[in-house]
Amino acid sequence: MTMLLSQKYEIFPTQEQKEMLERWLQYCRQTYNSALLDKQRKYKENKQSYTRSDMQKQQAIDKKRYPFLKEVPSQPLQEVFLRLKKAYDGFFRGDANYPKMKKYKEYNSLTFTQFGCKPNGKHRYAMSFADNGKLYNKRLGEIDILLHRSIEGTIKQFIIKRQSKRWYAIFSVERQAVPSSFVMEHAIGIDVGLNKYAVLSNEMSVENPRFLRQKEKQLKKAQRNLSKKKKGSANYNQQVERIRNLHEKVANQRKDFLHKLSYYLTQMYSVICMGNLDIRNMVRNRKVSKSISDVGWGAFRNMLSYKCEKVGGLLVKVDPAYTSQDCSGCGNRVKKSLSIRTHICAKCGTVLDRDHNASLNILRKGLEQLCVRAAED
Ligand SMILES: [Zn+2]
Repeated sequence: MTMLLSQKYEIFPTQEQKEMLERWLQYCRQTYNSALLDKQRKYKENKQSYTRSDMQKQQAIDKKRYPFLKEVPSQPLQEVFLRLKKAYDGFFRGDANYPKMKKYKEYNSLTFTQFGCKPNGKHRYAMSFADNGKLYNKRLGEIDILLHRSIEGTIKQFIIKRQSKRWYAIFSVERQAVPSSFVMEHAIGIDVGLNKYAVLSNEMSVENPRFLRQKEKQLKKAQRNLSKKKKGSANYNQQVERIRNLHEKVANQRKDFLHKLSYYLTQMYSVICMGNLDIRNMVRNRKVSKSISDVGWGAFRNMLSYKCEKVGGLLVKVDPAYTSQDCSGCGNRVKKSLSIRTHICAKCGTVLDRDHNASLNILRKGLEQLCVRAAED
């Protein structure tokens, strides 16, 4: 599989270069904040959307009005809007708070979407290597970089980052990579869902504990009973006690089930990849909310997390986007509604249970993240 890895190196800008980089960061941050304000204002005034291309048009105007903006290479200055878009996407997915203005300490990097020489070989992008191996930009000049190991792969993106008092260059490189067979053998992907409690990438599936649903009927009946009784009477108090016991029983059974399952998984596997479920978002959807609060995914994830830590394993939380759509065989995106339970890929012929396909995607994504993490360390 191809993987995008990050390789990080310390760079040593001169005082003058630092000042210029600081200015660039400041202009980018101001651009971010003013685009955010424009977006909010347009929405407030007449529910008008303000897209990335609108922002870019505005930027062209701003550049004429404020020539200092021209000092910043256009790639990081435009990439600002992509960050804003991601902030909004995260918010709408429910995994992030509403985007806020960025303070000095919250805007620390400049992203160059291209690096090196243009395909014609004659011209350079804004950032490249000089012949002597230093970093080069025409305004900054040459910057010293400590290449403590070689860059392997094709450079897809380049970031300059300020981290407290130091500066770093981060290369995103694309590389063909195969996780070691040890990791493969000891890793598992888990797709949790409503149909089955969990489907594992080894084709095992864990049935959904429906005990709460059953107990729920009993609870409802007991509640109804309670309403018929006179408040404060002996019968009433007895019924309250009965309901409390029922609740406790359910909670204990659920905890027991989750402890056993998480214990088993952490004993069997040293790398566990799980979709980073947006529980808030799903609970908002009322149709499924009852069963979700039954099954306690959040509690399950916490148990996995600390049990993994205890035995030296690793829980990798994976962005669940498209894990049920994409083909685990070839990556082809096969759109399907929730009711379609089988994944059928016309491109490569893969036919799999929907959740099993998802668990395989979760495993692959998790392993990719691991490799990226290893490269960043
Ligand atoms: Zn396929």
